[in-house]
Amino acid sequence: MSERTELEELGEFGLIERLNPCQQVLNESTLLSIGDDAAAMSYGDKTVLVSTDALVEGVHFDMVYTPLKHLGYKACVANFSDIYAMNGRPTQILVSLAVSNRYSVEALEELYEGMRLACKKYGVDLVGGDTTSSSGGMFISITVLGEAEKDKVVRRNGAKVHDLVCVTGDLGAAYAGLLILQREKAAWLANPNMQPELKNFEYVVGRQLKPEAGKQIVEFFEQNSIMPTSMIDISDGLASEMLHICKQSDVGCELYIDRLPIDQRTSKVYEEFKILADTGALNGGEDYELLFTVSQSDYEKIKDHNNIHIIGHITDKSMGCNLVTPQNTTIALKAQGWNHYSKKEE
Ligand code: ADP
Ligand code: MG
Repeated sequence: MSERTELEELGEFGLIERLNPCQQVLNESTLLSIGDDAAAMSYGDKTVLVSTDALVEGVHFDMVYTPLKHLGYKACVANFSDIYAMNGRPTQILVSLAVSNRYSVEALEELYEGMRLACKKYGVDLVGGDTTSSSGGMFISITVLGEAEKDKVVRRNGAKVHDLVCVTGDLGAAYAGLLILQREKAAWLANPNMQPELKNFEYVVGRQLKPEAGKQIVEFFEQNSIMPTSMIDISDGLASEMLHICKQSDVGCELYIDRLPIDQRTSKVYEEFKILADTGALNGGEDYELLFTVSQSDYEKIKDHNNIHIIGHITDKSMGCNLVTPQNTTIALKAQGWNHYSKKEE
């Protein structure tokens, strides 16, 4: 009998490793293949970046609380974020859509209104795609193209011992928003006459439904001649993304729990749900902030930026990947993240 391995045994990243889709690069123009936020290709003086992301109804979004306009916007932003994570600029997208006849034309117009809004704000052209029917629900796949100067691409693998670890914005908000939306959905299912209670939760719900990507930070790097040594966007949670950088850069890290940037409005939600805000900030997904490392010599350039927070530093690999508590004890950094297939911690 042939062997059968369950998807959950491998998890999302284990699965990609096992499938090993790109065993051999055949084209000289392929600079960078699987393993980073985007692939990179050489075309003249420019490096072309490309990345793709799919959103599946019932897995990534729930039509009960996701306005289609927001969904269109978010689907685009999630893709732009992967290009910024390479220190590039998104330029075009292609949109593939599978929809069941449960959706009206007007509903899909809303979806595209959101995509157009995102494209306009980020200066991206929607240049094509594909449309097909689906036997159930909606599936959106977006491919984004972007560009960077040849020597400006920032990968996940360049972090060096003593580098500073930085994050933009604040963490854990999008997951806090999801908790609120799920709670209101459960209450609505129990009593369809009730109105959702979203007052006081606008910030976190907004971060869940309508995230933004790191355009301004990448522009700030350019204007101030800063080249991060490594970078990744936070789609699966800080802990998971930090471990990716450490693994690919062959280094360790120390992150200070009391330096994690958490908005008060986010902490309040975690308090209500009896979840430690630090846990939410480390493992909550979909914030689309940037996590990057810079050389200590760039400290002066970043220290006064009100949206960049230094949360730790890179150590030798032999030290491992650790969190430092306010009491100065050390605990191992673990990813609980959003590993689609896995039941285990990574
Ligand atoms: P991100 O979170 O930045 O979108 P992922 O974790 O989805 O990145 O993917 C990690 C890497 O694996 C990327 O380089 C991506 O292109 C690649 N990858 C993911 N799924 C597949 C697949 N089914 N086939 C080939 N490559 C894949
Ligand atoms: Mg990414």
